[in-house]
Amino acid sequence: MTDAPESPRTHFIRQIAEADLASGKHDRIVTRFPPEPNGYLHIGHAKSIVLNFGLAESLGGVCNLRFDDTNPHKESPEFVTAIQNDVRWLGFDWGERLYFASDYFEQLYGFAIELIEKGLAYVCDLSAAEIRAYRGTLTEPGRNSPWRERSVAENLDLFKRMRAGEFPDGARTLRAKIDMASPNINLRDPVLYRIKHGVVHHQTGTAWCLYPTYDYTHPISDALEGVTHSLCTLEFEDHRPLYDWVLAHVSVPSRPRQIEFSRLNLEYTVMSKRRLTELVSEGHVDGWDDPRLPTLAGLRRRGYTPVAIRTFCERIGITKSDNRVEMAMLENAIREHLDAHAPRRLAVLNPLRVVLTNYPKGQTEYVELANHPKDPTLGTRLLPFGREVYIDRSDFEETPPKGFKRLVPGGEVRLRGAYVIRCDEVIKNADGEPVELRCWVDLDTLGKDPEGRKVKGVIQWVAVEHAVSAEVRLYDRLFKVPMPGAGGSDYRADLNPQSKRVVTGARLEPSLRDARPGERFQFEREGYFVVDPDSTPERPVFNLTVGLRDTWGKGQS
Ligand code: ATP
Ligand code: MG
Repeated sequence: MTDAPESPRTHFIRQIAEADLASGKHDRIVTRFPPEPNGYLHIGHAKSIVLNFGLAESLGGVCNLRFDDTNPHKESPEFVTAIQNDVRWLGFDWGERLYFASDYFEQLYGFAIELIEKGLAYVCDLSAAEIRAYRGTLTEPGRNSPWRERSVAENLDLFKRMRAGEFPDGARTLRAKIDMASPNINLRDPVLYRIKHGVVHHQTGTAWCLYPTYDYTHPISDALEGVTHSLCTLEFEDHRPLYDWVLAHVSVPSRPRQIEFSRLNLEYTVMSKRRLTELVSEGHVDGWDDPRLPTLAGLRRRGYTPVAIRTFCERIGITKSDNRVEMAMLENAIREHLDAHAPRRLAVLNPLRVVLTNYPKGQTEYVELANHPKDPTLGTRLLPFGREVYIDRSDFEETPPKGFKRLVPGGEVRLRGAYVIRCDEVIKNADGEPVELRCWVDLDTLGKDPEGRKVKGVIQWVAVEHAVSAEVRLYDRLFKVPMPGAGGSDYRADLNPQSKRVVTGARLEPSLRDARPGERFQFEREGYFVVDPDSTPERPVFNLTVGLRDTWGKGQS
């Protein structure tokens, strides 16, 4: 994988946009990414971002970032800032084209007046529960509201007084007058405006006590911005007739086209904002940027690169069929990227001291190791080697299973980039656990095979005297099962209790002392790791991004 995202693939939406350019229907493609600022962005949003920004970019068009902020209760400036950071981090630029649906509140109000004047909207005094009861079901038509035939003059008067704050929450709504018998429930006189007192909107403060609904706001916002293709997820397919109805009846400057695609569902995680909010607020994870979350902030902290995420989004493609993508696909994308670009380092997560009995006391020599096996431009580094080194506890077995190629009593192994050693003696603690190995080092084996013997195993090591102590956070999938909460059970019961393990006594090669937050490495034979923002030179902290191979579910994750 190169250091740029894979080039965009074609799909049905791209074909529509290209045809619209070719036919002259549009001179320029305008899309938008419309997040509601009520949470952090997740990998599903990345699919939408890559589609909207990527499509516009590749066809010479533009993409707007528009905050869909019509529901002030759960929205906040913290989310507005985080969302902008995440879109920028993915590598997309909205230039001057940053909008808020709340920027259009005055215009939206004006279009509502227009609908009332055309006899296409009315003030309804039914309560929310009554509206629901009157709406009917999929099999039964709805009933007309008793307030449906109010005069234009009365509707105008009441709507203006709704805005002026004369009525309490829930007392009245503005509804479109469409068709209570429509087979499409979205067309049964949908609510356009609700009264909400006492909320402070993050953009408009207390200027309004009247808030437009999403279905009313979205098409008009698209039209005001000159959006040509309004791309949304499949659950809005049934809303499209309403989208088109709104645009057909108000004097907007353009007629965008809504096109739906299937949302991204990913195994072993949850993506709805409600659940993500619960995981964060109930303390199941350590904040919105917890490296186990599918949020972009979490994936960044986990060590994911924008290139890998964009490549993943290109590979999953854009279709209309709902499916669930394997987590391995996301993990493969980052693994491929890091395999090509991450410098290699030696790290011992579970140290076991080895004393090389025939190596001179007090001597340090330096061995040279390549930073990357395939990319010489990444150069080499010098590692100090001495009489005492750490190896990983798992690389030594007193009673080795069949096929074990690492260190055993009386056996030999190569220390990566350095010498071949042989284990002569095992020193144990009171529990019979090995705490130190006494080994013989074959000083003739630096960079060459030993005389007349084959040594298959190669293990990582770190010189005791120069080792850097670090904390290493080993992350795993947040859920134990591919579809958390499937069958109506509580998704929390499917949380993986082993999703975070903290190793406090890891020993790293000295070059890692100066690694800065966000730097990524392959710890040889262990996996890919990133420096956590909590890291300091005194106390480096690394997060596991992904293992070297896809071993998940094969008993050795
Ligand atoms: P909720 O989780 O409450 O359903 P949402 O995911 O719809 O919220 P928005 O902020 O409204 O959140 O989403 C912004 C845009 O991202 C929308 O156009 C939406 O369709 C798209 N989007 C959200 N989730 C996904 C997903 N899983 N796959 C693809 N696109 C998504
Ligand atoms: Mg939404």
